[in-house]
Amino acid sequence: MLATVNAQQTPSNALSYTDQALLHGIAKDVSAKRIEQDIRTLVSFGTRHTLSETESETRGIGAARRWIKEEFEKISMECNGCLEVFFQSQVISGESRIPNATEIVSVIAIQKGTSDPNRYVMMSGDIDSRVSDVMDSESDSPGANDNASGVAGTLEAARVLSKHQFEGSIVYAALAGEEQGLFGGKILAEYAKANNWRLKAVLNNDMIGNIEGVNGVINNTTARIFAEGTRNTETPEEANYRRFTGGEVDSPSRNLARYIDLMADRYIENLDTMVVYRLDRFRRGGHHRPFNDLGFPGVRIMETNENYNRQHQDLRTENGIVYGDTIEGVNFEYAAKLTALNAVSLAGMANAPNPPADVNISGAVQASTTLSWKPHDDLSPTPNNPHLKGYKVYWRLTDAPQWQYSKYVGNVTTATLENVVIDNYFFGVASVSEDGFESPVVFPGAAGAFGE
Ligand SMILES: [Zn+2]
Repeated sequence: MLATVNAQQTPSNALSYTDQALLHGIAKDVSAKRIEQDIRTLVSFGTRHTLSETESETRGIGAARRWIKEEFEKISMECNGCLEVFFQSQVISGESRIPNATEIVSVIAIQKGTSDPNRYVMMSGDIDSRVSDVMDSESDSPGANDNASGVAGTLEAARVLSKHQFEGSIVYAALAGEEQGLFGGKILAEYAKANNWRLKAVLNNDMIGNIEGVNGVINNTTARIFAEGTRNTETPEEANYRRFTGGEVDSPSRNLARYIDLMADRYIENLDTMVVYRLDRFRRGGHHRPFNDLGFPGVRIMETNENYNRQHQDLRTENGIVYGDTIEGVNFEYAAKLTALNAVSLAGMANAPNPPADVNISGAVQASTTLSWKPHDDLSPTPNNPHLKGYKVYWRLTDAPQWQYSKYVGNVTTATLENVVIDNYFFGVASVSEDGFESPVVFPGAAGAFGE
């Protein structure tokens, strides 16, 4: 199987992409009103601190997680039990922020894929909240934006997406213990690895509702996507290979970010994304990191303008400044827009075929560049791409942020771009379904691999 194509130096993303009515519908179905209701409910538990009360039905982290589980179960009832809903817990102790034995309990809901259930994409938010002292489990800690907004967005995405069926599975996760040291994410990432999940995307939503920056900027038309560069699991041998071939800006997390960026352009009105070439904010953390630690593609999606007076603060007024993460600091329409971005990205990937595996590239001292990848039938004991149509090769100038050129090459496992010199571009390949759903672009080699 070999395709030879002539290089056409025309930007072709918009030209060659199949617009998906399904994704426009999903984006429209996301409700700011329901997101507001859920944030208000989460805030009403007073505090959701990891070390807070667990017995009360009205206050503390126990009541909050039970409510989230009930909410996922309600959503599941409306789709004839399409969600598998469970608590995922582990007892943690002896940590600086969790000195005494504490049950860390996340709430997980899984919508199984129809044809490739072991392939997963995931959206997450965090249950827990905090004030100025990270060990203060008693004070009121509304955590409206950080991170009831992320949990409310995840619940809403589940509501909207559970009305449809997808080829791959979608995980909706309300993760626990974020502020105390990313524990819920660690537990779920290790679970995914132990259970051989083919986890292709983690969309960690942490603070998706603030539009008033501490620097005075007010902006509801952009969002940030944080994505790490070289992957944490890279071996010295892989790093040495990358030194001579490239891949510093093409980890699967980066190409996941580029995928989401295009989804914003295509399906979310009045929203542009800023892809940030960093794991996370400067010296700060989030729940995608434990997944990146194990080699899974993962990004952080969040507001562009943060307000530090409204994060991790005791509720108070000082020198005329109101501190605290209260409901007044959340813009529900904006949170809905970012939720819609998650939903269309999850749906797009879950309906696309498996991202190409074992992508290789060659062409040094030749006029042309050749890419190859693994035939999809070999990927698993059961055919996981029943609706695969073929593959699309992408390339871009090495300093361009987004893929610039593409060529559909058919259902082949090798493609040569005639007279496109390997030295001058970065290359990748995506899989395309019969309906035109595309996977993220996979950069060749270990640096860019999305796995099997
Ligand atoms: Zn926080």
